[in-house]
Amino acid sequence: MHTKTLKELAQGLRAREFSSRELVRHFLDRIARYNPALNAFITVTEEAALQAAAAADAKLAKGESEPLTGVPLAHKDIFCTLGIRTSCGSKMLDNFIAPYDATVVEKCKRAGMPLLGKLNMDEFAMGSSNETSFYGPVRNPWDLACVPGGSSGGSAAAVAAGLTPAATGTDTGGSIRQPAALCGITGLKPTYGRVSRWGMVAFASSLDQGGPMARSAEDCALLLQVMAGFDEKDSTSVDAPVPDYAAALDQDLAGLRIGLPKEFFADLDAAMAQALEAAIAEYRRLGVEFVEVSLPNIQLSVPAYYVIAPCECSSNLARYDGVRYGYRCQNPKDLNDLYLRTRAEGFGAEVKRRILIGTYALSAGYYDAYYLKAQKIRALIALDFKRAFETVDVLLGPTTPTPAFRLGEKLGDPIAMYLSDIFTIAVNLAGLPAMSVPAGFIDGKPVGMQLIGNYFDEARLLNLAHRYQQVTDWHKRFPEGFA
Ligand code: GLN
Repeated sequence: MHTKTLKELAQGLRAREFSSRELVRHFLDRIARYNPALNAFITVTEEAALQAAAAADAKLAKGESEPLTGVPLAHKDIFCTLGIRTSCGSKMLDNFIAPYDATVVEKCKRAGMPLLGKLNMDEFAMGSSNETSFYGPVRNPWDLACVPGGSSGGSAAAVAAGLTPAATGTDTGGSIRQPAALCGITGLKPTYGRVSRWGMVAFASSLDQGGPMARSAEDCALLLQVMAGFDEKDSTSVDAPVPDYAAALDQDLAGLRIGLPKEFFADLDAAMAQALEAAIAEYRRLGVEFVEVSLPNIQLSVPAYYVIAPCECSSNLARYDGVRYGYRCQNPKDLNDLYLRTRAEGFGAEVKRRILIGTYALSAGYYDAYYLKAQKIRALIALDFKRAFETVDVLLGPTTPTPAFRLGEKLGDPIAMYLSDIFTIAVNLAGLPAMSVPAGFIDGKPVGMQLIGNYFDEARLLNLAHRYQQVTDWHKRFPEGFA
């Protein structure tokens, strides 16, 4: 059952091949068996999952079900869950039980999807390897000595190893696409504003966006359908109709124009380039036309991001002061001691590094030199994409520079770690939608192809990815040892 797609599971439930309770039991058993090796789950919600499954079975029996009723999923531990711990991968929120559900969580509940548990992640979603988590690193199911990517590393590893049929993730600079690529699954970062951020713990509010992570593009379409839509509780949520994503999957690709940003291919690793060449050849056979385009300011995206994201995080994380909720230090001498020790003890090294960079860059005298400058660069990067989309429908490139790296390999070198998002970050600065799709293997480790779309063009990305997955089987491979 764990190699089936969401669509197959939904069909099986409807055909009474198995019940939702049996399905949930199956995944809970797999979590019990394999999670100790992977560390993908921070919290497993066994009882609640079985109860929700029983309720879904009742709905299915009455014929009142929605498309994914009875199909379980797991949420990245950044989405607030009523009555269930939401840690955000941090000691600061280790004791935090949210008094409400995030909009995404509520929508999945309403769709009848039982929640298996909460997934491990980099602390406050800051990282590219899942090694900054207070709960320890997650391991890559394709090679346990390697990282799964981050920050949604738990989501990617859990889907890849068949511990959940699908998961949610969030992407501020690549955190859905990069781990999806490194674990050989499909992930979609929607247009900024497509999916509500309400109840999603804020890292960098102008960049954060939640999205689906699953085995196939078709599954991402089904889950995005549940997650997307206007939410009056999120002032940056966009009030635009949500198309029928599944209906667009099979559209003909003939005549479509895909741009290849030359900057993405300039110094690309040879094996990675070869994998992409093969994908491009598949698309050509499907009638797609390719043209070279340029994104001249793209090399400024990592430096601009590492000013903007820390600035926003330093402001967002000011709320963790030991007074309202979350961690509080023992026996504070006075208020200042309470603030200082709570934050010194509650945050990990990477989060502190970002807060320091952010407060520095926002301080009087430096604001213009750093923050304002970075915002101007951000506008230039968005303009690069705008120009490219005047001549092409979609952009194609790698998701990451290399396949999964070893645990510890980049921990001592933050800059090297930051550069693993070199192909994903610009998309967040521009607010565009993008996907990572499994496109081959290098030395037994998966690699991802990135498809970048124009604003609100998720349906076209899903269409392109789906057609590719009909003529390739990379997304169907399963890591040995988790069968
Ligand atoms: N790796 C990037 C960072 O550390 C992006 C993280 C994310 O998308 N949440 O900020």
